[in-house]
Amino acid sequence: MMTISPINAFSDNYIWLIERGQQAFVVDPGEPDPVLTRLAERGLELAGILITHHHFDHTGAVQVLQEKTGCDTWGPASSPAGIFDHTVTEGDRASVLGESFEVLEVPGHTLDHIAYFCSAQSALFCGDTLFVGGCGRVFEGTTAQMRASLEKLSALPTDTRIYCAHEYTLGNLAFAQMVEPDNVALSTFVAACQDKRARDVPTVPSVLEGELSYNPFLRWSSAAIRQTLIDAGRLRDDSPDGVFSAVREWKNQA
Ligand SMILES: [Zn+2]
Repeated sequence: MMTISPINAFSDNYIWLIERGQQAFVVDPGEPDPVLTRLAERGLELAGILITHHHFDHTGAVQVLQEKTGCDTWGPASSPAGIFDHTVTEGDRASVLGESFEVLEVPGHTLDHIAYFCSAQSALFCGDTLFVGGCGRVFEGTTAQMRASLEKLSALPTDTRIYCAHEYTLGNLAFAQMVEPDNVALSTFVAACQDKRARDVPTVPSVLEGELSYNPFLRWSSAAIRQTLIDAGRLRDDSPDGVFSAVREWKNQA
């Protein structure tokens, strides 16, 4: 059986550990020591590393882990992060401990950003593209690219679990409540997440079905969000891209 668990790194990163038997993969290792410690504790052999995008807090441990374990690496083609053993693009598949992980290109946060979807495990590893209750900042792409990437992810099966790379949930949800204050699914989810954080339990993964109901960055069709933007004088372009851009700009300033 395959299990997935978080390894904490830096102040709020999650490195995802995927294990089956004595073999393991990690996703986006920014720091080597927490990974090496966990592998030793659990008696695991590192078989591979999956990278979603080039940012240092997702790739900083790749070289050390490769040198120490000889594992293979998978990452986006034409990435500033360098050469991986397996460079992958849209529709490619990575074999991860006997399961097939499909590659989805999701540019926006960075241009090289990819996500890995495992349908057998209903698991999506989406780096800094979709967060619980939020989305990544648009550093390299356009907001239209980012929205298209999020639309691609939102078309996955609704039971897909969202393994993103940061614990940003409570801040994201506070913003979500500002743009959609009467959303009941949102307020219910906020209470559940506050309870988890009070007990130091990760809020990640979430489930796509929930994200579609409360995440303002997937809700460009929401009449309530559109009205909030109009009331705040922030809606200049009344299209899905316009709504998404206005929400993203507001969050950047919040
Ligand atoms: Zn990033």
